[in-house]
Amino acid sequence: MSHQKAKICGCGYPVVQRTSWTHENPGRKFKGCRFYNFETGQRGCDAFDWVDEDILEWQKDVTNHLLSEKQRLAMEMKIIKGRAEFMEHEMKRLNEEHEKMKVKYEKMRKKAEGSSKIKNEHVYILISLCAIVSVVVSALYVMVFA
Ligand SMILES: [Zn+2]
Repeated sequence: MSHQKAKICGCGYPVVQRTSWTHENPGRKFKGCRFYNFETGQRGCDAFDWVDEDILEWQKDVTNHLLSEKQRLAMEMKIIKGRAEFMEHEMKRLNEEHEKMKVKYEKMRKKAEGSSKIKNEHVYILISLCAIVSVVVSALYVMVFA
């Protein structure tokens, strides 16, 4: 293991310090090629040196356990967020439906009010007809029997 400062890798760039998150070396720091990519495993050259000492078995276990726990929580969080988003969406939809129902109800109420107005008009006509008829009848009564 060399501890020279500002070591230059095969690509001609100073090596960079990174942290390994592999199952074998979780959290262990190393210096290597700046073009190394964890996800793809691609690298510019083979420059590689551990910075930290080898991890003990129990440290590996604890770190891996915490990592998987962290992943589990992140997954759960994602699910909860998804549910919250769905609920929000559903609430919005229900609110819109409520608004629509309100408008519909208002229309129906106005219609019902209008038809009851018509009914009232009918009642007035009937009452005035009754009044006219009773006047005519009593007039006739008076004419016939007086
Ligand atoms: Zn390199």
